[in-house]
Amino acid sequence: MMEKKRVFLTRTLHDFALKELRKKYQIEIHSGKIPISKTKLRTKIEKVEGLICFPYDKIDSDLIDIAKNLKVISTYSVGFDHIDTQYAKKKKIRVGYTPEILTDATADLAFSLMLDVLRRVSEGDRIVRNGKWRQIYGAYDYVGTDLQGKTLGIFGLGRIGGTLAKRAKSFDMKIVYHNRKPVSKNKEKASGAKYVTLDKLITQSDVISIHVPHTKETNQLFDMKIFKKMKKSAFLINTARGKIVNEKDLIIALNKKIIAGAALDVYESEPISEKHPLTKIQNVVLAPHIGSSTKETRVKMAEITVKNLNLGINGKKPIYSVGY
Ligand code: NAP
Repeated sequence: MMEKKRVFLTRTLHDFALKELRKKYQIEIHSGKIPISKTKLRTKIEKVEGLICFPYDKIDSDLIDIAKNLKVISTYSVGFDHIDTQYAKKKKIRVGYTPEILTDATADLAFSLMLDVLRRVSEGDRIVRNGKWRQIYGAYDYVGTDLQGKTLGIFGLGRIGGTLAKRAKSFDMKIVYHNRKPVSKNKEKASGAKYVTLDKLITQSDVISIHVPHTKETNQLFDMKIFKKMKKSAFLINTARGKIVNEKDLIIALNKKIIAGAALDVYESEPISEKHPLTKIQNVVLAPHIGSSTKETRVKMAEITVKNLNLGINGKKPIYSVGY
């Protein structure tokens, strides 16, 4: 009998996915501290044909060089900035990822973060829980900000940004966006968004929501220079990747009231501890990187991750494939 191909998972997946993988492959699952250390991953990746990984696993050229038998890297995410996809392509290793199926869930989270920070929901929750709600609020106490009539600037009108625009349209927001190139007229119509330069998006928006991938071009793009150009009353939402924002500058901008507030799902380094300076600022909502984290979406992501692996391990193009 032919020996089954080997697959390594840097953390566990749903039972149905593991069952399917076990039928076809010899699988090994990392069960210790997450993320797996680079040293341990180096020893595990050496002999396998397939790798299932997550956004916090850095799959660089060093690691790819060790993996002599590797045919496919299947990431449980739409972002693939943690993988050296160019190098994988050079080594004829397929890379599968999970776009589309997590678009609604992530757009919903971006929208809920926007509502939360503008209406100060989490901040209010802390007030109530900490016994600081001493009297019924009057006309000027604890006021938030309306969404209606405000301008939402979407940086990256792709799948998630476009879906957020549809949500915002039904809340009567004005929507502007910036991409490297404008989307089709049909997509503009569907999203109700108007193309503007990055400078206009920064200066005109009451809320800026980031939906671009993390690349060399977008790395640390949102820094003090941008925060100073934003309206003093504006809010920043980031559900894309933490490294797109210069976190030190953001902390200064929030503390010095250069901008009005922020709501974040992603950070320069994750997880952040309760001692992180962002946790000391009241006008910030902090989510623990849960953009795609709904029961339904996580099941679909597991299905696609396994399908991508099955195809790539046999030299075929994954359903959603980066590079080739
Ligand atoms: P997408 O469909 O590829 O959309 C990305 C958009 O960004 C495109 O419209 C693209 O348009 C634009 N863009 C790319 N580079 C740009 C640049 N340098 N300047 C301006 N615009 C640029 O991606 P998506 O599925 O919406 O996902 C977006 C990102 O969200 C992912 O890469 C991932 O990192 C993040 N994400 C996070 C979570 C979470 O758990 N928090 C969940 C899902 C996704 P052009 O090509 O025309 O520039």
